[in-house]
Amino acid sequence: MKWQGRRKSSNVDDRRGMSGPGRSRGGINPLLLGPLIRLLFSKTGLIIVGIFLVFSFATGNNPLSLIGNLFFGSSGQAVSSAPYQGTEEENELADFSATILASTEDVWNQLLPDYRDPTLVLFTNSVASACGSASSATGPFYCPGDEKLYLDLSFFYEMEKQLNAPGDFAQAYVIAHEVGHHIQKITGISDKVQRLRGQLSKTEYNKYSVRLELQADFLAGVWAHHSQQMTQMMETGDLEEALNAANAIGDDRLQRQSSGRVVPDSFTHGTSEQRMRWFKKGFETGDLSQGDTFSANPL
Ligand SMILES: [Zn+2]
Repeated sequence: MKWQGRRKSSNVDDRRGMSGPGRSRGGINPLLLGPLIRLLFSKTGLIIVGIFLVFSFATGNNPLSLIGNLFFGSSGQAVSSAPYQGTEEENELADFSATILASTEDVWNQLLPDYRDPTLVLFTNSVASACGSASSATGPFYCPGDEKLYLDLSFFYEMEKQLNAPGDFAQAYVIAHEVGHHIQKITGISDKVQRLRGQLSKTEYNKYSVRLELQADFLAGVWAHHSQQMTQMMETGDLEEALNAANAIGDDRLQRQSSGRVVPDSFTHGTSEQRMRWFKKGFETGDLSQGDTFSANPL
Protein backbone atom coordinates (compact mmCIF):
# COMPACT_ATOMS: atom_id res chain seq x y z
CA MET A 1 0.00 0.00 0.00
CA LYS A 2 1.11 3.53 -0.68
CA TRP A 3 -0.08 4.92 2.62
CA GLN A 4 2.88 7.02 3.80
CA GLY A 5 2.52 10.78 3.93
CA ARG A 6 -1.27 10.72 3.96
CA ARG A 7 -3.56 12.23 6.58
CA LYS A 8 -3.52 10.52 9.96
CA SER A 9 -6.69 10.48 12.03
CA SER A 10 -6.73 12.52 15.21
CA ASN A 11 -9.25 10.06 16.69
CA VAL A 12 -6.55 7.79 18.05
CA ASP A 13 -6.25 7.21 21.78
CA ASP A 14 -2.74 5.85 22.19
CA ARG A 15 -2.70 3.86 25.43
CA ARG A 16 0.30 1.73 24.54
CA GLY A 17 2.49 1.02 27.52
CA MET A 18 -0.27 1.76 30.00
CA SER A 19 -1.78 -1.03 32.01
CA GLY A 20 -5.50 -1.20 32.59
CA PRO A 21 -7.72 1.83 32.26
CA GLY A 22 -4.85 4.32 32.02
CA ARG A 23 -2.37 6.22 34.15
CA SER A 24 -3.23 9.27 36.14
CA ARG A 25 -1.07 12.25 35.45
CA GLY A 26 0.04 14.57 38.23
CA GLY A 27 -0.35 18.34 38.32
CA ILE A 28 -3.07 20.81 39.04
CA ASN A 29 -6.53 20.30 37.67
CA PRO A 30 -6.99 23.30 35.34
CA LEU A 31 -10.56 23.70 36.62
CA LEU A 32 -9.20 24.51 40.09
CA LEU A 33 -6.77 27.15 38.87
CA GLY A 34 -9.30 30.02 38.60
CA PRO A 35 -10.78 29.62 42.11
CA LEU A 36 -7.24 29.20 43.54
CA ILE A 37 -6.02 32.46 42.01
CA ARG A 38 -9.15 34.25 43.21
CA LEU A 39 -8.57 32.83 46.71
CA LEU A 40 -4.96 34.04 46.72
CA PHE A 41 -6.05 37.62 46.03
CA SER A 42 -8.90 37.63 48.51
CA LYS A 43 -8.58 38.78 52.14
CA THR A 44 -8.70 35.18 53.41
CA GLY A 45 -6.06 34.26 50.85
CA LEU A 46 -3.70 36.97 52.07
CA ILE A 47 -4.10 35.78 55.65
CA ILE A 48 -3.38 32.19 54.59
CA VAL A 49 -0.29 33.28 52.63
CA GLY A 50 0.86 35.28 55.68
CA ILE A 51 0.48 32.30 58.01
CA PHE A 52 2.25 30.17 55.42
CA LEU A 53 5.24 32.50 55.21
CA VAL A 54 5.57 32.78 59.01
CA PHE A 55 5.31 28.99 59.32
CA SER A 56 7.90 28.33 56.63
CA PHE A 57 10.44 30.79 58.06
CA ALA A 58 9.87 29.41 61.56
CA THR A 59 10.49 25.83 60.38
CA GLY A 60 13.32 26.74 58.02
CA ASN A 61 11.55 25.48 54.91
CA ASN A 62 11.63 27.23 51.57
CA PRO A 63 8.07 28.62 51.18
CA LEU A 64 8.10 27.96 47.44
CA SER A 65 8.97 24.32 47.83
CA LEU A 66 6.25 23.99 50.48
CA ILE A 67 3.68 25.38 48.04
CA GLY A 68 5.10 23.08 45.40
CA ASN A 69 4.65 20.08 47.66
CA LEU A 70 1.12 21.11 48.42
CA PHE A 71 0.04 21.35 44.80
CA PHE A 72 2.25 18.97 42.91
CA GLY A 73 3.22 16.22 45.32
CA SER A 74 6.33 15.61 47.37
CA SER A 75 8.88 16.01 44.57
CA GLY A 76 8.03 19.69 44.26
CA GLN A 77 7.63 19.23 40.51
CA ALA A 78 4.65 18.48 38.36
CA VAL A 79 4.56 14.70 37.88
CA SER A 80 4.69 14.08 34.18
CA SER A 81 4.81 10.65 32.68
CA ALA A 82 7.02 10.21 29.65
CA PRO A 83 5.20 9.33 26.44
CA TYR A 84 5.33 5.70 25.34
CA GLN A 85 8.49 4.82 23.43
CA GLY A 86 7.68 2.09 20.98
CA THR A 87 10.14 0.51 18.58
CA GLU A 88 10.44 2.17 15.21
CA GLU A 89 8.55 -0.70 13.58
CA GLU A 90 5.76 -0.50 16.14
CA ASN A 91 5.42 3.27 15.80
CA GLU A 92 5.19 2.86 12.07
CA LEU A 93 2.32 0.41 12.59
CA ALA A 94 0.63 3.00 14.81
CA ASP A 95 1.04 5.65 12.09
CA PHE A 96 -0.26 3.18 9.53
CA SER A 97 -3.35 2.43 11.66
CA ALA A 98 -4.06 6.16 12.10
CA THR A 99 -3.76 6.63 8.33
CA ILE A 100 -6.16 3.77 7.56
CA LEU A 101 -8.60 5.11 10.16
CA ALA A 102 -8.44 8.52 8.47
CA SER A 103 -9.20 6.88 5.14
CA THR A 104 -12.27 5.13 6.63
CA GLU A 105 -13.40 8.54 7.96
CA ASP A 106 -13.08 10.08 4.49
CA VAL A 107 -15.00 7.26 2.83
CA TRP A 108 -17.79 6.79 5.38
CA ASN A 109 -18.44 10.49 5.91
CA GLN A 110 -19.00 10.69 2.17
CA LEU A 111 -21.24 7.60 1.96
CA LEU A 112 -23.27 8.02 5.16
CA PRO A 113 -24.68 11.44 6.11
CA ASP A 114 -25.17 10.34 9.75
CA TYR A 115 -21.66 8.97 10.15
CA ARG A 116 -19.76 9.85 13.32
CA ASP A 117 -16.07 9.04 13.59
CA PRO A 118 -15.16 6.26 16.02
CA THR A 119 -12.04 6.35 18.20
CA LEU A 120 -9.21 3.88 17.77
CA VAL A 121 -7.64 2.83 21.07
CA LEU A 122 -4.15 1.38 20.78
CA PHE A 123 -3.15 -0.71 23.77
CA THR A 124 -0.66 -3.30 24.92
CA ASN A 125 -1.61 -6.48 26.77
CA SER A 126 -4.89 -5.41 28.37
CA VAL A 127 -7.41 -2.61 28.18
CA ALA A 128 -10.59 -1.42 29.87
CA SER A 129 -13.56 -0.65 27.61
CA ALA A 130 -17.26 0.01 28.10
CA CYS A 131 -17.67 -3.66 27.10
CA GLY A 132 -15.49 -4.78 30.01
CA SER A 133 -11.78 -5.34 30.19
CA ALA A 134 -10.08 -7.34 27.51
CA SER A 135 -6.68 -8.85 26.88
CA SER A 136 -4.74 -8.91 23.63
CA ALA A 137 -5.71 -12.56 23.24
CA THR A 138 -9.25 -11.40 22.38
CA GLY A 139 -7.90 -9.88 19.19
CA PRO A 140 -9.03 -6.52 17.80
CA PHE A 141 -12.62 -5.65 18.68
CA TYR A 142 -15.22 -2.91 18.47
CA CYS A 143 -17.20 -1.90 21.55
CA PRO A 144 -20.65 -0.47 20.66
CA GLY A 145 -20.99 0.91 24.22
CA ASP A 146 -18.26 3.53 23.76
CA GLU A 147 -18.01 3.42 19.93
CA LYS A 148 -14.30 2.64 20.05
CA LEU A 149 -12.09 0.19 18.20
CA TYR A 150 -9.52 -1.59 20.35
CA LEU A 151 -6.29 -2.82 18.81
CA ASP A 152 -3.08 -4.24 20.19
CA LEU A 153 -0.61 -3.81 17.35
CA SER A 154 1.01 -7.14 18.24
CA PHE A 155 -2.02 -8.75 16.55
CA PHE A 156 -0.50 -7.80 13.22
CA TYR A 157 2.62 -9.83 14.03
CA GLU A 158 0.37 -12.70 15.06
CA MET A 159 -1.47 -12.51 11.74
CA GLU A 160 1.80 -12.71 9.92
CA LYS A 161 3.49 -15.41 12.01
CA GLN A 162 0.65 -17.63 13.24
CA LEU A 163 -2.15 -17.12 10.72
CA ASN A 164 0.15 -16.75 7.75
CA ALA A 165 -1.68 -13.57 6.72
CA PRO A 166 1.02 -10.93 6.22
CA GLY A 167 0.80 -7.60 4.45
CA ASP A 168 -0.30 -4.05 5.14
CA PHE A 169 -3.53 -4.41 3.21
CA ALA A 170 -4.42 -7.45 5.32
CA GLN A 171 -3.94 -5.18 8.34
CA ALA A 172 -6.05 -2.46 6.77
CA TYR A 173 -8.81 -5.02 6.21
CA VAL A 174 -8.81 -5.83 9.94
CA ILE A 175 -9.25 -2.14 10.85
CA ALA A 176 -11.89 -1.64 8.15
CA HIS A 177 -13.78 -4.72 9.43
CA GLU A 178 -13.96 -3.22 12.95
CA VAL A 179 -15.10 0.10 11.46
CA GLY A 180 -17.75 -2.02 9.70
CA HIS A 181 -19.08 -2.98 13.15
CA HIS A 182 -19.21 0.74 13.99
CA ILE A 183 -21.41 1.32 10.93
CA GLN A 184 -23.66 -1.52 12.12
CA LYS A 185 -23.97 0.31 15.43
CA ILE A 186 -24.95 3.53 13.62
CA THR A 187 -27.47 1.76 11.37
CA GLY A 188 -28.96 -0.04 14.40
CA ILE A 189 -28.33 -3.56 13.06
CA SER A 190 -25.97 -4.61 15.81
CA ASP A 191 -28.47 -3.51 18.49
CA LYS A 192 -31.18 -5.61 16.82
CA VAL A 193 -28.94 -8.66 16.75
CA GLN A 194 -27.81 -8.03 20.30
CA ARG A 195 -31.44 -8.10 21.48
CA LEU A 196 -31.84 -11.59 20.01
CA ARG A 197 -29.05 -12.91 22.16
CA GLY A 198 -31.27 -13.61 25.16
CA GLN A 199 -34.19 -14.90 23.09
CA LEU A 200 -32.49 -17.53 20.98
CA SER A 201 -30.56 -20.71 21.56
CA LYS A 202 -26.82 -20.36 21.15
CA THR A 203 -26.89 -22.21 17.83
CA GLU A 204 -29.64 -19.94 16.49
CA TYR A 205 -27.88 -16.81 17.73
CA ASN A 206 -24.62 -17.90 16.10
CA LYS A 207 -26.35 -17.77 12.72
CA TYR A 208 -27.10 -14.09 13.25
CA SER A 209 -23.59 -13.49 14.47
CA VAL A 210 -22.22 -14.96 11.23
CA ARG A 211 -24.45 -12.64 9.17
CA LEU A 212 -23.30 -9.65 11.23
CA GLU A 213 -19.63 -10.57 10.76
CA LEU A 214 -19.97 -11.21 7.04
CA GLN A 215 -21.63 -7.81 6.66
CA ALA A 216 -18.64 -6.22 8.45
CA ASP A 217 -16.41 -7.98 5.89
CA PHE A 218 -18.61 -6.63 3.10
CA LEU A 219 -18.37 -3.11 4.57
CA ALA A 220 -14.58 -3.46 4.73
CA GLY A 221 -14.71 -4.26 1.01
CA VAL A 222 -16.91 -1.22 0.33
CA TRP A 223 -14.35 0.93 2.15
CA ALA A 224 -11.51 -0.54 0.05
CA HIS A 225 -13.45 0.16 -3.15
CA HIS A 226 -14.04 3.84 -2.37
CA SER A 227 -10.67 4.40 -0.72
CA GLN A 228 -9.05 3.12 -3.89
CA GLN A 229 -11.11 5.53 -6.00
CA MET A 230 -10.23 8.44 -3.74
CA THR A 231 -6.54 7.78 -3.11
CA GLN A 232 -5.21 4.93 -5.28
CA MET A 233 -3.47 3.60 -2.20
CA MET A 234 -3.62 -0.02 -3.30
CA GLU A 235 -0.82 -1.74 -5.15
CA THR A 236 -0.59 -5.03 -7.02
CA GLY A 237 -1.07 -7.91 -4.61
CA ASP A 238 -2.96 -5.89 -2.01
CA LEU A 239 -6.38 -7.37 -2.77
CA GLU A 240 -4.88 -10.84 -2.49
CA GLU A 241 -3.44 -9.94 0.93
CA ALA A 242 -6.92 -9.06 2.24
CA LEU A 243 -8.50 -12.16 0.69
CA ASN A 244 -5.74 -14.31 2.11
CA ALA A 245 -6.42 -12.82 5.57
CA ALA A 246 -10.20 -13.35 5.21
CA ASN A 247 -9.41 -16.93 4.23
CA ALA A 248 -7.10 -17.38 7.22
CA ILE A 249 -9.67 -16.26 9.79
CA GLY A 250 -12.64 -18.26 8.55
CA ASP A 251 -14.26 -20.34 11.29
CA ASP A 252 -13.82 -23.62 9.42
CA ARG A 253 -10.13 -22.99 8.83
CA LEU A 254 -9.47 -21.88 12.43
CA GLN A 255 -11.35 -24.87 13.85
CA ARG A 256 -9.54 -27.32 11.59
CA GLN A 257 -6.24 -25.83 12.72
CA SER A 258 -6.97 -25.90 16.43
CA SER A 259 -8.92 -29.14 16.88
CA GLY A 260 -8.96 -30.80 13.48
CA ARG A 261 -12.77 -30.84 13.65
CA VAL A 262 -15.22 -28.44 11.99
CA VAL A 263 -18.51 -27.72 13.78
CA PRO A 264 -20.68 -25.42 11.60
CA ASP A 265 -23.25 -24.82 14.39
CA SER A 266 -20.56 -23.11 16.44
CA PHE A 267 -19.49 -20.74 13.65
CA THR A 268 -19.68 -17.09 14.65
CA HIS A 269 -17.86 -15.36 11.78
CA GLY A 270 -18.47 -17.48 8.69
CA THR A 271 -16.36 -19.84 6.61
CA SER A 272 -13.22 -18.77 4.80
CA GLU A 273 -15.08 -18.94 1.49
CA GLN A 274 -17.92 -16.75 2.80
CA ARG A 275 -15.59 -14.17 4.32
CA MET A 276 -13.58 -13.82 1.12
CA ARG A 277 -16.71 -13.68 -1.02
CA TRP A 278 -18.44 -10.93 0.99
CA PHE A 279 -15.31 -8.82 1.21
CA LYS A 280 -14.86 -9.20 -2.53
CA LYS A 281 -18.49 -8.32 -3.21
CA GLY A 282 -18.09 -5.07 -1.26
CA PHE A 283 -14.82 -4.33 -3.02
CA GLU A 284 -16.15 -5.01 -6.51
CA THR A 285 -19.48 -3.19 -6.19
CA GLY A 286 -18.75 -0.46 -3.64
CA ASP A 287 -22.52 -0.47 -3.34
CA LEU A 288 -23.98 -0.43 0.18
CA SER A 289 -27.32 -1.80 -1.02
CA GLN A 290 -25.61 -5.10 -1.97
CA GLY A 291 -24.67 -5.90 1.60
CA ASP A 292 -27.84 -7.34 3.11
CA THR A 293 -26.32 -10.50 4.55
CA PHE A 294 -29.46 -10.94 6.67
CA SER A 295 -31.72 -11.80 3.77
CA ALA A 296 -29.09 -13.42 1.58
CA ASN A 297 -29.96 -17.04 0.81
CA PRO A 298 -27.73 -18.94 0.41
CA LEU A 299 -25.42 -16.85 2.55
ZN1 LIG B 1 -16.06 -8.76 13.61
